[in-house]
Amino acid sequence: MKKAAPTVWDVIVIGGGPAGMMAAARAGERGKTVLLLEKNTRLGVKLSLTGGGRCNVTNNKTDVRTMLTNYKDAGKFLFSTFTKHGVAETIQWFAGRGITFHEENEGRLFPITNSAETIRKTLIDALREQQVSIRVGAIVSAILHDVETGLFTIQLSNGKISHSHSCIVATGGMSRPETGSTGEGFSWLSTLGHTIKKDSLSLVPLMLHDTWVEKIRGVTIPDCKITLYSGDKKQKAQRGKILFTHTGVSGPTILNISSMVKELLLHGTVTLVLDLFPELDDKALRSSIQELLLINSNQKIKNVLARIVPRALALIILELLKINSETPTHSLLAKDRVMLVFFLKHFPLHVKGLLGADKAIVSSGGVSLTEIDFKTMGSLIVPNLFLVGDVLDIDRPSGGYSLQLCWSTGYVAGSSA
Ligand SMILES: Cc1cc2nc3c(=O)[nH]c(=O)nc-3n(C[C@H](O)[C@H](O)[C@H](O)COP(=O)(O)OP(=O)(O)OC[C@H]3O[C@@H](n4cnc5c(N)ncnc54)[C@H](O)[C@@H]3O)c2cc1C
Repeated sequence: MKKAAPTVWDVIVIGGGPAGMMAAARAGERGKTVLLLEKNTRLGVKLSLTGGGRCNVTNNKTDVRTMLTNYKDAGKFLFSTFTKHGVAETIQWFAGRGITFHEENEGRLFPITNSAETIRKTLIDALREQQVSIRVGAIVSAILHDVETGLFTIQLSNGKISHSHSCIVATGGMSRPETGSTGEGFSWLSTLGHTIKKDSLSLVPLMLHDTWVEKIRGVTIPDCKITLYSGDKKQKAQRGKILFTHTGVSGPTILNISSMVKELLLHGTVTLVLDLFPELDDKALRSSIQELLLINSNQKIKNVLARIVPRALALIILELLKINSETPTHSLLAKDRVMLVFFLKHFPLHVKGLLGADKAIVSSGGVSLTEIDFKTMGSLIVPNLFLVGDVLDIDRPSGGYSLQLCWSTGYVAGSSA
C-alpha cells in the first residue's frame, strides 16, 4: 500500500540522477518516508546517455585500495565510503535485481543487455518497491535549514514547500546542462556555508586546428597509441580508442588526458601523434605495406589503403600527403610509400582547445571534501544534510568511476539519513 505523504518527511532527496535514486531507494529500504524531487519530467536523463547509451556501470576493481587509486587525492577520503559500499557491493546490489555484467577494456563493466535503460529501470523499480514518493517536474529553488528545530524546508519554484528531518542533495555538477545538471545545488550549498571549488571541466573532448577532421566525423579507431607532446617534448603515451568528431577528437583515452592538455595549452602548442598500428614497429609495418601494395599492384591506392584504415581516413591521409588517391599502387613513388608508412605510425593532430561545459562528460569542482564525513556522506557544517554524486569535488577518469561514486556515496547517504 502506498504510504501517505507525511507533514514532515524523514528524508527529502533533491535530484533524480543515479546518486539521488540510489540514496532514495536505500533510505526507503530502511523504512524511512522518502520524497524524491526531480526537475526533469523523467528520472535519470543523464544516466540514459552514459556509455553511449550502454552505461558503463562501474569498473571491475573489487579491491577497495586498488579502486581508490583512480580517484587521485580524493581516494583517501573515500576509503570508508567504499568499504561500506564499493564495487563488490554494487555488483551484488544489481545482481540481486537480476542484472549481470560483461567486462570490456580496462575493467569497464556494462550490463549484459548493453542498455542504460536497464539500469535506469532497475533503479526506478527499486524506488517503487521501497515506496519512495517521486515528484518529477519539481524544480527546487531553495533549501532552508532551521537551526532550532533541525528541520529542512525545501522550496519549489511553483511556490510549494515540503519539510524533512534530513536532506540529501544529489543535483549533479555542471556538465551537459541540457540533462538538468545546471549547478543550482552549488548556490544553495554555498548559502548553507559550504565551500564550492570552482568548476573546472575534467573529462572533455578536444578541438583541433585540423579542420579536415570534419570530413571524418564519426570515424573510430578502436586501438591506437596516442602520444601527447607539449611543443616538441613528449608528455605521455596511452593506448586506446579514438573517435573523430566534427571539431576534433573524443573517446575514453582522449577524455582522460583532457585535463592535462588544458594545463599544457597554457604553456604553448600541444600535439597528439597517433600510431595507427601500435602492434607493429616501423620495419614490420613497412614490410606488410610493401606486401599489400605488391599483391594489389593494379588497384588504386585509395582502395588498398581503405583495407587497413577506415575509408574516410584513408582519403584524408592521401590528401594530407598530397598523393593522388586514384594512383594505381604500382605507380606509387618510393618517396610516397616511405611517407605513407611514416604517417601511419606518426599521424599528427594539432590541438586548439577543449570543448566547453556543454560537451564535458564530467565536471570536477564542487563541494570541498574536507567538509564531508565520508562514513555517512553527511555535511560537517549542517547536521542531517548529505551530499552525493557529482556535487562533490572529485576528479576521476573515464571507465565507470563516476557512476561508482554515485552508487557508493548514494548508498552510504541513504543508509545514514
Ligand atoms: C554523455 C555522458 C556519458 C557518460 N558516461 C558515463 C559512463 O558510462 N560511466 C560513468 O561512470 N559515468 C559516465 N558519465 C558521468 C555520469 O553520468 C555522472 O557522473 C552521473 O550522472 C552523476 O550522477 P548524479 O546523480 O550525481 O548527477 P546527475 O546525473 O547530473 O543528476 C542530477 C539530477 O538533479 C536534477 N536537478 C538539478 N537541479 C535541480 C533542481 N533545482 N531541482 C530538482 N532537481 C534538480 C537534474 O535534473 C538531474 O536529473 C557520463 C556523462 C555524460 C554526460
